[in-house]
Amino acid sequence: MNKIVLLNIQELLQVRQMPTQPLRGEEFTKLPKITNAYLVLCDNEVERFGEMSELNPDVLRDSEVIDATGRLVFPAFCDSHTHAVFASPRESELVDKIKGLSYQEIAASGGGILNSAKKVQQMSEEDLFLQSLEKVEQIIQGGTGALEIKSGYGLTLKDELKMLRVISRLKAHVDIPIKATFLAAHAIPAEFERDKEAFMDEVVHRWIPKVLEEGLADYVDLFCETGYFDAGDVQAVAQAIQGTPLKLKVHVNQFTAIQGIEAAVKNKAITVDHLEVLDHQDLVALKLGETIATVLPACSFYLNIPFSPVKELIKEGIPISLASDFNPGSSPSSNMFFVWSLACIKMKLTPEQALNALTVNSAFAMGLEATHGALFKGYRGKIIVTNKVPSLAYLPYAFGTNHIHQILN
Ligand SMILES: [Zn+2]
Repeated sequence: MNKIVLLNIQELLQVRQMPTQPLRGEEFTKLPKITNAYLVLCDNEVERFGEMSELNPDVLRDSEVIDATGRLVFPAFCDSHTHAVFASPRESELVDKIKGLSYQEIAASGGGILNSAKKVQQMSEEDLFLQSLEKVEQIIQGGTGALEIKSGYGLTLKDELKMLRVISRLKAHVDIPIKATFLAAHAIPAEFERDKEAFMDEVVHRWIPKVLEEGLADYVDLFCETGYFDAGDVQAVAQAIQGTPLKLKVHVNQFTAIQGIEAAVKNKAITVDHLEVLDHQDLVALKLGETIATVLPACSFYLNIPFSPVKELIKEGIPISLASDFNPGSSPSSNMFFVWSLACIKMKLTPEQALNALTVNSAFAMGLEATHGALFKGYRGKIIVTNKVPSLAYLPYAFGTNHIHQILN
């Protein structure tokens, strides 16, 4: 039996009974915590916690003791929206942007999603796997304890399957849960340039059945946006996965509101992601449904586009989760502490609300609420021990700082 006891924890955060529903409204603003706390881990499982004054000294026998004076302790982040498997970063696009090139000019000179796709198509599965494994290991060191990864840079069935197989192999090689999302319709491939309908036909009748047959995905996603895919396509994908284990997620309302949210909520999407632009109809749909709103402030920061109006979502009692959107084109960072800072500095979430969105609600956003997101008896996920900090608010306040002292489990 391997026993670890943390003593004198300044604040032990996110201690709850296992949540049964995503946090919304008043619940979303509260962060349960114990000041001057202890925490006992037995064989990597949370056995008990409480106030130091209640600690039974017998617990310390045969235990590894960690003094956590001045430190905060909380469950690892759940990052429910990433594109962490890609072949090549696109830092030259940043330099192009600095020089004043437009998105179209950058795409014409070999940038954008189609460029990422070309690189994935040219790379072997083995190389893509090895490179991705390194990225995921870095993500874990950054404090992420559960991860969703999307395909979507394949753009052919063969290369989408290659990406999904890489994600499957990653699942087997790291000690955090990974959820795989088949981003079936990310961009329209060049060979279907003038015939989106034919491409969607292919996705619905060949690609999704093949992914199902091989059991390679947990979710299916599409990019619902003007010039890409629309509410009808959301409906078509939802129909294609009806009665299967696959669930729906949708990239939607990043630049325009085109009734995609309504279609997603109606089809019981587990999340709708982005939501930089929201109209009244979108809010009504979300309010009446069960879908979680996943917002991605690092993407808004990098692209210089509006941040999601989360205050309106909160006012309507809609559950919010926060994710990194880690990808080479629009959010080249997987740093969840930075996401936390942006959520507070740019979106005006309180530090407590933001941590709820980064842990409990993001665990729901990937179906991991029974095992991740909050510290409860039996929790087996990773645990973050911070550097010595004056208070919780210091973490989002001191943006860009590495706050991690140790990751347990
Ligand atoms: Zn995305």
